Amino acid sequence: MRWDVVIIGAGMSGLAAGIRLAHFQKKVLILEQHAVWGGLNSFYKKGGHHFDVGLHAVTNWLRPGYKGPRVPLQRIYRQLRIQPEELALEPQTHSYVIFGDARLRFSNDLAELTSEVSRLFPKELDGFVHLSERCAEYPEAAADTTPISTRRMLSEYLSDPLLVDMLLCPLLYYGCASEHDLDWEQFVILFNSIYREGFCRPRRGVRQILDVLKDRYESLGGEMRRKSGVAELRVTDGRVGAVVLESGEVVEAEVVLSSAGRVETARLRSDHPVETGRPGELAFTETLWLLSQDPKTLGFDGCVTFFGTAPFSWARPDQPEDLSSGVICVPGNYAHQEPLDRHLLRVTHLADHRAWVGLSGPAYDEQKALWIERSLDTVARLGSDLRPYIQYTDSFTPRTVVKYTRHDHGAVYGSPDKVKTGRTDLSNLFLCGTDQGFVGIVGAMLSGINMANAHVLAGAS
Ligand SMILES: Cc1cc2nc3c(=O)[nH]c(=O)nc-3n(C[C@H](O)[C@H](O)[C@H](O)COP(=O)(O)OP(=O)(O)OC[C@H]3O[C@@H](n4cnc5c(N)ncnc54)[C@H](O)[C@@H]3O)c2cc1C
Repeated sequence: MRWDVVIIGAGMSGLAAGIRLAHFQKKVLILEQHAVWGGLNSFYKKGGHHFDVGLHAVTNWLRPGYKGPRVPLQRIYRQLRIQPEELALEPQTHSYVIFGDARLRFSNDLAELTSEVSRLFPKELDGFVHLSERCAEYPEAAADTTPISTRRMLSEYLSDPLLVDMLLCPLLYYGCASEHDLDWEQFVILFNSIYREGFCRPRRGVRQILDVLKDRYESLGGEMRRKSGVAELRVTDGRVGAVVLESGEVVEAEVVLSSAGRVETARLRSDHPVETGRPGELAFTETLWLLSQDPKTLGFDGCVTFFGTAPFSWARPDQPEDLSSGVICVPGNYAHQEPLDRHLLRVTHLADHRAWVGLSGPAYDEQKALWIERSLDTVARLGSDLRPYIQYTDSFTPRTVVKYTRHDHGAVYGSPDKVKTGRTDLSNLFLCGTDQGFVGIVGAMLSGINMANAHVLAGAS
């Protein structure tokens, strides 16, 4: 059988692209190397417990009754024919950015952050208000423009380096593939996604979203094959002529859409292109603890707490983890209509992929145990020592991310060299997902939609 479209990867972008294409009666095949779908935001069972891989927060909360310019979640609902109730997203209560003694509280109401800036940084208030006005609209995306330094742009509005670092910290942690700075366009997207619209999550976690996407895709006739890694994209006459699976099976398609990553996709090509972009350098470790006590009673009342020290370093650390900053997420603190049935706290730190990817066996386990202890010390300084309350611990490193998603270096946000058009030099090979430039759950879904529309459905909207 010849497919209209083969999609590499059953993550958020691949699934969203698949739904969009299947909706227009395209014959679509999603090939996923892993046994489960979801990619970077998948799910697993360990020690008898069900966990999400990630999911601190779905960004871009859409208030019920919202009226205003079109925002990302509205576009996703409309393009994927999903009713808001299906994703069952519930808003955050509040979150924090904490740098030393400075603590900014924010919520899904930008006015709260504005008043916090006014309280802590009164001289910066006008600049912050002008900055948020400047960011009020999402940029027109999908052009491969030259990146503009956000730090330079911010210097036009803000003069206190502590405030700059504190405002940047959540945005970098939730969507920046490049070290030290981010592209201004990406800053505007993230500012709106995180500070203007805000955080939410489904009570059931990522399964809620993934089940809706997978069911919708399959009910429209889309086919998904798991444990079906793509080994080679056979290139002839400037196009992908055949997709070769690791099993040796060969499939043919008019169009191939890859969410595997820019560098990773290039590596699959039989013609070995020279121009592949740089692999990502920024990777994370994440540890999660099931606790016998509500984290709120231990001093962790925020949904997400971003913490750091000034000057804030956003770079691959020169040791296995950089404990000077991180993100603490407490899923149970969201405004869920029914409380969660367990107490979970998760912590993310920047990690040096080189220190983790090469380790295996007891050496790997020892390093993990050592850094979990150090992370616990760090977390204790922001609330209480969790040790007396820990019932179960799990942790993963860049090595885990490589193993389950094949992203080079376990870099969650992929290459710093994005391809916003999704185009490659081959006429029927396109990128979607992280390396097309949109990251996070909402970004990846939008990317899948946009790339399916632009390159297969001839500009459908
Ligand atoms: C720990 C963690 C926490 C996170 N928390 C959040 C959060 O709270 N909020 C948020 O918005 N985002 C979060 N993210 C980021 C978010 O998960 C990603 O940005 C998004 O899921 C990326 O989707 P994608 O489709 O672009 O890529 P991916 O999910 O990586 O999908 C690519 C898929 O391609 C498959 N693949 C790769 N190579 C091949 C091959 N050769 N053959 C077949 N299949 C292949 C992979 O297995 C993978 O399933 C988190 C990520 C991590 C790792």
